[in-house]
Amino acid sequence: MKELVVISGKGGTGKTSIVASFAALASKAVLADCDVDAADLHLVLEPKVIRRESFSGGKRARIESGHCTACGKCEQLCRFDAIYFDGPGNGKVDKTFRIDPIACEGCGVCAWFCAAKAIEFGTVANGEWFISETRCGPMVHARLGVAQANSGKLVNTVRTEARKLAARTGKMVIIDGSPGIGCPVIASLAGASLALIVTEPTLSGRHDMQRVAQLARHFGIPAMVCVNKWDLNPRAADEIESLAGRHGVPAAPRVRYDPAVTRAQIEGTSAVECAAAPCAADIRAVWARLRAAIDDAAAAAAS
Ligand code: SF4
Ligand code: SF4
Repeated sequence: MKELVVISGKGGTGKTSIVASFAALASKAVLADCDVDAADLHLVLEPKVIRRESFSGGKRARIESGHCTACGKCEQLCRFDAIYFDGPGNGKVDKTFRIDPIACEGCGVCAWFCAAKAIEFGTVANGEWFISETRCGPMVHARLGVAQANSGKLVNTVRTEARKLAARTGKMVIIDGSPGIGCPVIASLAGASLALIVTEPTLSGRHDMQRVAQLARHFGIPAMVCVNKWDLNPRAADEIESLAGRHGVPAAPRVRYDPAVTRAQIEGTSAVECAAAPCAADIRAVWARLRAAIDDAAAAAAS
């Protein structure tokens, strides 16, 4: 299966705009929005949801105040300071203990040691994932609840479902990966055919590109770098490509700064679908280069 993942060292590099253009160029690829903490591919692709599932990323504890004897054992044991002595009274004690669901890390220790069996410990729904139809092909995407963790697990779910769709249709998967170098981006990246690292011509862009390139190399994923808005600082763009080369990451064609990208986003379309976007030619060149690299990698793997 061919999987292209587009990643960046941080958010705001134009990664999702480029993915939306790839989606338009790919003729019905399977799309996976793995940037689950700040999903925004749907803003451009306007998905029509055809399947919706809840996601459970872990367990949480909750005190049943009617059974709590206020012994305080759970508060003593909780290493995450998630338990407070400000729950309602229950006829036996004036106050009971309460668990802050955001601070609770779901370790289960409190429930295990509560002699009164007053603590429920169960799975919680902390997000949703969707399969949608878009004008560019099917899309798997997700929404993580506010202040919910386990986005790496949700990314994994999105990728798994996208792969199932691709296996049925024989299409490639295009992944809008999570930014950064944490657990969600590792879940976006692992096992992909090729990673495109999108960066900007700034000092932080250079630093972020380096970190992501090291991550891709660590997982054995071939990578290319694309400097977006390169003409804002051509010298920095040169330096980034040169540094990437020293990491064994070749440069894809560059993409110029183009205010038409923002206008296209506002209109719910991608740069390559927008006739007036000068950067569309650049993105087409990047796409052609990536397709060739993925096809070469697939042919090498098959021989
Ligand atoms: S250990 Fe159980 S009974 Fe004791 S304070 Fe905590 S919830 Fe209440
Ligand atoms: S499950 Fe663990 S983190 Fe959550 S309240 Fe109990 S002891 Fe604290």
